[in-house]
Amino acid sequence: MIRFTMLSAGSGGNAILIATDTARILIDSGVSFKQLTARAAAVGESIEGLDAVFVTHEHRDHVLGLGTLARKLGVPVYMTPGTRDCLPGSVGRLPRVEVFEAGEAVQVDGAVVRSFSVSHDAADPVSYVVEAGGAKLGLAADLGHPSHLVRSRLAGCHGLILESNHCPDMLRRGSYPPMVQQRIRGRQGHLSNDAMSALLAALVHDALQVVVLTHISEENNTHELAYDTAAQVVAGRPVEVHVAWQDRPTRIFEIRA
Ligand SMILES: [Zn+2]
Ligand SMILES: [Zn+2]
Repeated sequence: MIRFTMLSAGSGGNAILIATDTARILIDSGVSFKQLTARAAAVGESIEGLDAVFVTHEHRDHVLGLGTLARKLGVPVYMTPGTRDCLPGSVGRLPRVEVFEAGEAVQVDGAVVRSFSVSHDAADPVSYVVEAGGAKLGLAADLGHPSHLVRSRLAGCHGLILESNHCPDMLRRGSYPPMVQQRIRGRQGHLSNDAMSALLAALVHDALQVVVLTHISEENNTHELAYDTAAQVVAGRPVEVHVAWQDRPTRIFEIRA
């Protein structure tokens, strides 16, 4: 079984807390240590006793609280060499850095964290599938394009965390300057509701239990729109769909093999 909660989700900060029977893992640490601690406590969890922190990429909304967290807890931080080399200076010294190449799998106390490259405007971005006791949780966020590699790595997951960043119409009509719009919708930008829908349609299967939508744009999307788009894809199946918030944690989800 895998339990997980999205402590924060969106351009203001991302962090996913994952607990298996034997390991506690954080993916990204894009909010302050204080926020992480408070949000974990709000759902009856704790970030004390983390076994590992995995970083997807060096953007501020994924590493803001990383330095403080790593120094306070002495927890090892796993990332690709390109991410390590491009971390913002504000992260500061990390006591224990473990580097892996995109595509490699890392064992953490009985859990396996498999990485895969994603297309995003960062140095060496990856996403992850966490596996424990046969249960598989897959993440695909901060990517402009769901490649064949992404689809094949996420196949068979019992839980999916998928980016549903923007509604293409809202983005086009919104206030973002053309350059920024282009970046967001580009192949190294962020997944739209439509792209998420196509990805989810390709991934849905009988053992899929939970889909959590993440990195929702506050300006160019609504939770309702993202939710409805995903709910349509899994209609008639016993799949829970949730949308993760920026300003508070989700409840704890459980998935089983
Ligand atoms: Zn991000
Ligand atoms: Zn990013």
